Amino acid sequence: RAKRRGRNRYEFFSDALQEDVINTKRVADEILKGLERNEFVAWFQPQFAAGTLDLVGVEALVRWQHPTEGIKAPASFMPVAEELNVVAAIDSLVLEQTLAALRHWESIGLNVPRASVNVSLRRLSDEGLIESLRRHDISPGRIAFELVESIYLDEGDGAVAWTIDQLKELGIDIEIDDFGTGYASIVSLQKLRPDRLKIDRQLVDPILTDPAQRRLLASIIDIGKAMDIAVVAEGVETLAHASILTELGVDILQGYAFARPLSPEQFETFLATQAWRAA
Ligand code: C2E
Ligand code: MG
Ligand code: MG
Ligand code: MG
Repeated sequence: RAKRRGRNRYEFFSDALQEDVINTKRVADEILKGLERNEFVAWFQPQFAAGTLDLVGVEALVRWQHPTEGIKAPASFMPVAEELNVVAAIDSLVLEQTLAALRHWESIGLNVPRASVNVSLRRLSDEGLIESLRRHDISPGRIAFELVESIYLDEGDGAVAWTIDQLKELGIDIEIDDFGTGYASIVSLQKLRPDRLKIDRQLVDPILTDPAQRRLLASIIDIGKAMDIAVVAEGVETLAHASILTELGVDILQGYAFARPLSPEQFETFLATQAWRAA
């Protein structure tokens, strides 16, 4: 009997596995169609100076406007996009849309000092990246590239180091995303001379309830100060978080306490009405 049950279980798993494969294949087909049909759009989440709450920038976050399933967040399609080798293409679309958005906001008198885009390692090693950035004529400090720590493990790879240098020369800021969750050494991070450290929300979330976590965060902020670079906190979910983070010396705040990622239309209204000042 045990054997039969075992076999049933095996069949159960194998069915689930097969369903997974079929599902992944379907999503893959839809992603490729979605790219052709321009269904991938940049949404924007605002970032504020701690203390004054002046708007200092936005982070561009990709959304998929799926024809039947509505707006989809990156977690639901980026892994498949990765397998399809189209993350660099998505990054490139998001950058194009972000540059267009900056020009648009400027043309209607909305002041958005800077926009950060997430950049995958693939995109960073893209041969044409620097050439295409040169064609765009980006003003210094207006665009930041958010890089995750895994990038620095490859830093022995001279191509990445060259790209980083070129980015700096083009006036593009470097931010270390999800700081505290990766494996890079302080030494390898320092070599990149980043403009900002962005502390992952997993480290931000528990500071209200756990004093040890608060001390840990304070030490991480000190690392940023010692390296003389600005510190950004992501995942700032409440005003109580915001006030502790400000006290601890964080420079820039981003999170649901102020705004979720907003569609371009929503963002325009949010900015025009200074909606966060009311919070
Ligand atoms: P990330 O770069 O660390 O982005 C921050 C994520 O935290 C975003 O999720 C954002 O919506 C979410 N978030 C912001 N504030 C809060 C908060 O107060 N509480 C909580 N619980 N979450 C908050 P999202 O938009 O789902 O993006 C997830 C990840 O997908 C991003 O993490 C980034 O690594 C990746 N991603 C997004 N857009 C792109 C893209 O255009 N290119 C690449 N390569 N990756 C992207
Ligand atoms: Mg990011
Ligand atoms: Mg992040
Ligand atoms: Mg994160």
